[in-house]
Amino acid sequence: MTKYGFLGLGIMGNAMATNLVNAGLDVTVWNRTREKCAPLVVLGARQGNSPAEVTGQCDITFAMVSDPAAASSLCFDSEGVLEGITPGKGYIDVSTVDPATVLRIAGAVKNKGGRFLEAPVSGSKKPAEDGTLVFLCGGDETLYQDAQPALQLMGKKSFYFENVGQGAQMKLVINMIMGTMMTAFGEGLAVGDKAGLKIVDILDVLTQGAVDNPMFRLKGLQMVQKNFSPAFPLKHMQKDMRLALQLGDELGQSLFTTGAANNWYIKARKGGGANDDFSAVFKYIADQF
Ligand code: NAP
Repeated sequence: MTKYGFLGLGIMGNAMATNLVNAGLDVTVWNRTREKCAPLVVLGARQGNSPAEVTGQCDITFAMVSDPAAASSLCFDSEGVLEGITPGKGYIDVSTVDPATVLRIAGAVKNKGGRFLEAPVSGSKKPAEDGTLVFLCGGDETLYQDAQPALQLMGKKSFYFENVGQGAQMKLVINMIMGTMMTAFGEGLAVGDKAGLKIVDILDVLTQGAVDNPMFRLKGLQMVQKNFSPAFPLKHMQKDMRLALQLGDELGQSLFTTGAANNWYIKARKGGGANDDFSAVFKYIADQF
């Protein structure tokens, strides 16, 4: 039986690992804040003492942590992922990071004879709980094949790209579009509200036209109800906007709209919204709560 590891049990990692454990897979979990392992252990997971121990004991280890600094620290620090990698071991980083970080981690794992796959996900807390994420993969194709049983339990579809780093690029492209959509949405609702229109009426009209989409439908209602409990924390959206701007900069592509949206997320992050859902950017745009 394949032994799976799962490192990082935040909003996404907890839901994803739960699906693996509930399906009866052999799963060992680890989280920096150890208490977060407890619910998974109750369900039947083993608890690892360090990332190195987990990668050392498991055939395929997934990691789902915050950002490039966290992914690098998880891999390269003492007792980190790399110390447990031996020939043939699989390491799959599903965090959203930049292509340079992915390439550094991929190179280091490969140098130890391990196999590396990047697999950032499209989809949020609910798709993670429902096992309907979309994986954007790049790297070792044998690992991509070997990991299918787990990928299919956690997601509804996987894309495989030829080069390591293309998964990260795809993820940043998707999120810069999503992030700018949200600030444009927030600005529209804010100006409509100030003009005396009812926000619920704006939402109603939107559903009848070409810009209707699941995100506006779901988040719009929550925004009216001032429910900003985090599915996708705002600090992570701001990180993705920053990484997308960096990608544009490297490629000589101006990203005016993304830059403007990023300023809203910075304002919201600094204003106390870091751990709220990213839709809370609306509060800082409307400045009315
Ligand atoms: P989260 O709830 O904030 O969880 C972050 C996880 O990273 C926690 O387990 C945290 O450990 C761990 N971590 C942070 N710094 C670390 C470090 N230096 N060393 C080891 N572990 C560290 O975030 P999330 O929403 O699950 O998102 C995780 C990743 O998925 C992010 O890259 C995010 O952009 C991406 N993503 C999120 C969503 C979403 O809707 N939430 C959707 C797609 C992609 P502690 O518990 O100890 O703090």
